[in-house]
Amino acid sequence: IKGTLGRYVAYYTEEFDKANIRNEQLKRAVQQGIENGEFIPFIQPKVNIDTRELVGGEALARWRSPEGKMISPGVFIPMCEQTGMIVDIDMMIYEKVLQFLRAHLDAGIACVPISVNFSRMHLLNEDFLDQIVRKREEYNVPASLIEIELTESAIFDNIDNIYVFTEKMHSHGFSISMDDFGSGYSSLNMLKDVPIDVLKIDKGFLEESKDNSRRNIIFSTIVEMATQLNIRIVVEGVEFIENVELMRNCGCSIAQGFYFARPMPSEDFSDVMKKGS
Ligand code: C2E
Ligand code: CA
Ligand code: CA
Ligand code: CA
Repeated sequence: IKGTLGRYVAYYTEEFDKANIRNEQLKRAVQQGIENGEFIPFIQPKVNIDTRELVGGEALARWRSPEGKMISPGVFIPMCEQTGMIVDIDMMIYEKVLQFLRAHLDAGIACVPISVNFSRMHLLNEDFLDQIVRKREEYNVPASLIEIELTESAIFDNIDNIYVFTEKMHSHGFSISMDDFGSGYSSLNMLKDVPIDVLKIDKGFLEESKDNSRRNIIFSTIVEMATQLNIRIVVEGVEFIENVELMRNCGCSIAQGFYFARPMPSEDFSDVMKKGS
């Protein structure tokens, strides 16, 4: 191709190649990171807004690179979902949470339930379900201390799979939490069919809206619906006192957000837990 167009085509081809190479490099680095066990859980407290009491935690993956950098999930999770590597990462975080709980139980420290994120991708994998169950047995941690958070996934979103998964996990004593409720991928339709235990209200709901009274009505209606369905609510992304007030007005009491605490290394979460017991 000649002239200007040719230059553009060459430019885009080159950019495309560069992006591909970066992607390949990231993929290989993550693969290596999985082999070296470089993915670790940070834990963010869930608290009762009235008593400030610690009621749980959420394990959030961090990648501690060999150079000691702490890399957030936004960098590697999307690629890991595309390639299926997410399965290994979720399992590694889960196992480290089980180890964490085991160590505290052995030391006689009262533990709070910790939720672990599992990509909905796993729901297609029978083997993986058994692995979740077996790992728990291996560490002999009560299933009541583990909450499974089904994260959003643009790729796998089959209600039948989620139903089967939930029933099976319930039969083993785990509770199931629906992440990012109210965002595109966690719908009312799902709620109609799947008897989940916890709804995590997406942080988008806390943002100011053009007409806050509309937002407040939607928010309090979700809370009312959840109450009637016997589903617990956790509000995520609680950053400001206004968010806490909104929660109070709507009668929900469990918050997770920077206003109370950020995700922290497990040793720090351990200190928070010890203070509570
Ligand atoms: P998520 O599961 O919705 O997790 C909550 C995210 O909100 C976390 O981001 C947390 O740090 C952040 N957050 C908490 N409180 C606040 C707040 O007050 N304000 C704001 N602006 N943000 C807050 P993080 O740790 O970067 O994780 C991002 C996402 O990556 C998670 O969203 C989850 O979808 C995914 N993820 C993290 N760890 C794992 C994992 O082990 N497995 C899988 N499959 N996905 C994971
Ligand atoms: Ca989550
Ligand atoms: Ca969420
Ligand atoms: Ca999210």
